[in-house]
Amino acid sequence: MAILGAINPILTAGLDPNDPDGWRCGAYLGRGGYSALRKILSGKISPECVLDDLKKSSLRGRGGAGFPTGLKWSFIPRNHEGEKYLVCNSDEGEPGTFKDRDLLLLNPHAVIEGMVIGAYVMGMSRAYNYIHGEIPEACLRFEEALDEARAAGFIGNDILGSGFCVEIFAHRGYGAYIAGEETGQLESLEGKKARPRHKPPFPANAGLYGAPTTINNAETLAAVPFVLNMGPEAFLAAGKPNNAGTKIFSVSGHVAKPGNYEIPLGTPFRALLDLAGGMRGGRALKACIPGGSSSPVIPGDAMMELTMDYDCISRAGSMLGSGAVIVMDETTCMVKALERLSFFYQHESCGQCTPCREGTRWLRGIVRRIENGEGRTGDLETLEHVAANIAGRTVCALGDAAVMPVQSFLRHFRDEFMYHIDHKTCLVSKETQRTGSGWAWE
Ligand code: SF4
Repeated sequence: MAILGAINPILTAGLDPNDPDGWRCGAYLGRGGYSALRKILSGKISPECVLDDLKKSSLRGRGGAGFPTGLKWSFIPRNHEGEKYLVCNSDEGEPGTFKDRDLLLLNPHAVIEGMVIGAYVMGMSRAYNYIHGEIPEACLRFEEALDEARAAGFIGNDILGSGFCVEIFAHRGYGAYIAGEETGQLESLEGKKARPRHKPPFPANAGLYGAPTTINNAETLAAVPFVLNMGPEAFLAAGKPNNAGTKIFSVSGHVAKPGNYEIPLGTPFRALLDLAGGMRGGRALKACIPGGSSSPVIPGDAMMELTMDYDCISRAGSMLGSGAVIVMDETTCMVKALERLSFFYQHESCGQCTPCREGTRWLRGIVRRIENGEGRTGDLETLEHVAANIAGRTVCALGDAAVMPVQSFLRHFRDEFMYHIDHKTCLVSKETQRTGSGWAWE
């Protein structure tokens, strides 16, 4: 994958994915990199001004929750005596999400600059980037970028002669989806199993090693220098109200050119689909998961009328999430697709709480037997009953993440599930056999 295209880009502006040195510190400086940090450390912009600018810009977290970044940073107690920590979450494990790896490969210094600014504003001297360890090239690239930044005086002691010191560490995770959940990630950083914590207390008060901690997604941190350089009003205007700036969308599935695309929030889905080369083979859009596998599926005809922003997707009954757009064409068997998704959540449940540990196994088992032609009358009602007994009753959001695909697939494609149960075969594969295509979920 790579950044394959953009509309009015900000984070990837001037980046040439084919330039082997485009990620280096020198190239980033050439694109105006580290200028926001210079202004802040020279005293031209105070930490309070940075917080104000972030709040004005409406920069929302790009990892999934969409929480306002300025507000999150302001939760960190300023007068806390002792260590505070910043954690960059680059542990993207949600099926369909692959934007942070490209960001780390192509623009790692933007992430570093955002981390140093965040550490300075929140008064932190230690920061970690938790990187999905199954993508070793992203870890190696980030470590190399850290060496460059250290050599250039942007991290370490007395940064740019300001007296401010921060050290950044790259930390490799080992592929557990639940290590992307912020408190699971803190447990993992502490060397333990990535089991999410009960909240409260929240990380802003008791996070890594019990100290105040802020956790931001890599794309969020990379956007910070751009917000400060272009000004909050311009960043806000690049998107739409409450949906500021641009966002990188990972487009996968049945499109001609799957990959990452940076577009302004509020861009019509049709334009994103065009950017990704349109539907593969000219087929019709059947359904789309707009924000990673945990976000509810939207039927194709409804999706074609939406814009890609938090509010519009939310009004349509789904979530923008991490911006992982999974496109499914008319040959997709929705029962098979849900079986794959349900297997993922069963596999990734940490097992800490009963509704998730047992419920995800039930969900997957029932969907699998329907897919295998062994579905029974009442299976759909049982699925709905099990889902209702998981939602909102678990320690972390994985329970809800497992439930939302099930509920939305049944809401929009119930007939297909009924056909599987009643006829012990697949409606779509029968139709596609006629037309010579296949239902494969690729
Ligand atoms: Fe673990 Fe699932 Fe409970 Fe989250 S919801 S803590 S993944 S068992």
